[in-house]
Amino acid sequence: MSRSLDALRFDNRFTRQLPSDPESTNQRRQVMGACYSRVLPQHTQQPVLVACAREVAELLDLTEATCASEQFLRVFSGNEVLAAMDPYAMCYGGHQFGHWAGQLGDGRAINLGETLNRDGQRWVLQLKGAGPTPYSRTADGLAVLRSSVREFLCSEAMHHLGVPTTRALSLVLTGDPVVRDMFYDGNPQAEPGAILCRVAPSFTRFGNFEIFAARQEWDVLQQLLDYTIRTDFPHLPEPGIDTYLMWFDEVCRRTAAMIVHWMRVGFVHGVMNTDNLSVLGLTIDYGPYGWLEDYDPDWTPNTTDAEGRRYRFGQQPQIGQWNLGQLARALAPIVGQVEPLQESLMRYSSLYNDGYNAMMVQKLGLGCFDPATDVDLINDLQSVLQLRETDMTIFFRALAEVSLGEIAPGGDEADARAPFEAAYYQTDPLTEAQRHDTLGWMRRYVDRVRRDGTPDDTRRQAMNAVNPKYVLRNYLAQLAIDKSAEGDHTMVEELLEVLRHPYDEQPGKEQFAQKRPEWARHRAGCSMLSCSS
Ligand code: AMP
Ligand code: MG
Repeated sequence: MSRSLDALRFDNRFTRQLPSDPESTNQRRQVMGACYSRVLPQHTQQPVLVACAREVAELLDLTEATCASEQFLRVFSGNEVLAAMDPYAMCYGGHQFGHWAGQLGDGRAINLGETLNRDGQRWVLQLKGAGPTPYSRTADGLAVLRSSVREFLCSEAMHHLGVPTTRALSLVLTGDPVVRDMFYDGNPQAEPGAILCRVAPSFTRFGNFEIFAARQEWDVLQQLLDYTIRTDFPHLPEPGIDTYLMWFDEVCRRTAAMIVHWMRVGFVHGVMNTDNLSVLGLTIDYGPYGWLEDYDPDWTPNTTDAEGRRYRFGQQPQIGQWNLGQLARALAPIVGQVEPLQESLMRYSSLYNDGYNAMMVQKLGLGCFDPATDVDLINDLQSVLQLRETDMTIFFRALAEVSLGEIAPGGDEADARAPFEAAYYQTDPLTEAQRHDTLGWMRRYVDRVRRDGTPDDTRRQAMNAVNPKYVLRNYLAQLAIDKSAEGDHTMVEELLEVLRHPYDEQPGKEQFAQKRPEWARHRAGCSMLSCSS
C-alpha cells in the first residue's frame, strides 16, 4: 500500500503513444488531427472532502490515511498535479439525440494520468468539473454538488449491483460557486461547485472513433484503434483487419451485456448519446439518469428528452444497437468491408434477446429459459406490471417471498396477490379485469415454478441474488443532496454504505427500500432531471 500519493506509479500511455494537439493554449476550439490536448485543472478556493469510496482507493493501493491527507485533497480538487501525471482532455465527437453534433470532447473532464496498481491493472484517474478545456464549447468546465453526488453514489451503487461501470474515488466541494439554470427556464442560480474523481481502465467512447471518421482523419483513427486494442483489449491478436472485426464484435457483446444489466436493475441512463457509450461496455457519464419506480417502459427522467423519449427505459436496447451502428460506420472505411460489421450488429440483437430472457428467468427464480412457456410469461408480466403503478424493485423481492404451498389452487386469493399489493402505489381496489389478469399470471407462474420443482427457499435465495432490495431511488439521492448542500454529508456516507450490499436484507435500513413518497412524484431532482449539471 502506498503511503503518499507520490508513491503512485504512473504509465501515461495514452499521451505517450497517440497524437497530441500541437497547440498548448487552453482556448475553446476545433482540435484537428489529435486524440487529446494537454490541459491543467484550475485552482479551487476552499476544497473540502465530502466522500471517498474505500473500495476504489484499494484498487489504487491507497490507504485510508492517504485518502484523509491534505495532499489527497489538493490533488483531487485540482490544486496539485503530481510530477508523474500528464493531464489531458480527450477529443471526441458524438451523435446527440440521433444527430451528428461534431466535436464534443472532454469539456469538463481532465484525465490526470494512468496508474498501474501492484497487480499491474491500469486505472485512469479523471477529474470531472476541474475547469475548462479546449473542448468546453460555450460552457464553463465546472460541475455542481447535486450532479456530482448523483454520479458518485450511482457509480458505486452500480458496481455493487454487479453492473459494469466507471468508478468514483472521491467527491470534493470546491468552495467556488457555479451558476446553473437547472431547467433552462431563465432562472440561473449559484450552486456549490464540486469535483469528482472518476476511475476506469479507460474512458474511451464510441465518439472517440466517430470524430476521426467524420473528419476523414483515417491515420489517427487507425492509431487510436490499434492503441485501444493493444491497451484495453490485450487478449485480442495484434491489430489488423480481422482483429478490428473481432474488436467491434466484442464491443457489441459488451454493450448488450451492459444493457441487460440495466434492464435487470431498472436503470435508465437518460442520455445515451454516442459520446456517452464506452467501448469497454461500462456505464459512463451519469447525468439525468433515473431508477424505475413504477414499472413503465416509456419512462425517462430526462426532461430534455421529454418529447421524443428517445432514451426511455424500454428503448435502451435498440438505442444501444443504433449507437453501435454509428461506430460501425466510422470503422467501415478502415476495415474495407461492411458485411462482417453488419453481422456483429445482427448478433447484438440475438445476444441481447438471449441475455434478456436468461436474466428474466433468473429474476423469476426459474431454472432455465423455456421458450414454449416463458416468452409469454415474461411478456404478460410486463403487461400486468403496467395495469397500475407497480414498484418494480419491491415487486421482485416480494415475489421471492411467495410460498407455493399457500398459493395452491383454491387457496387464499390474497396470498396470490400479495407481491403485487406490496408494490402498488395506489390503494384503491383492482377492477375485475385487473384482478383477473393478475391472478391469471400468478397461477401460471406458480405452475411454472412447480414444474421446475425448486423448493421455496432455494428459489428465494436465487431471486434475491439478482433482484436488489436497495437501489439508488431518485428521491433518496435528492435527500442526500439537500443535506449535503446544507453542509451535512452524512447521508451520502449512509447511502453509500447501504448500497454496498444491495441484495442483503439490512435490518434497520428498511427506510431506504420504501416506495417513492408522494411528495417526490413531481419534485425536481426526484423524477425530473435535465442535462444541466
Ligand atoms: P453530456 O451529454 O452531458 O455527457 O455532455 C456532452 C458534452 O458537453 C461533452 O463534451 C461534455 O464534456 C460537455 N459538457 C457538459 N457540461 C459541460 C460544462 N459544464 N462545461 C464544459 N463542457 C461541458
Ligand atoms: Mg458525456
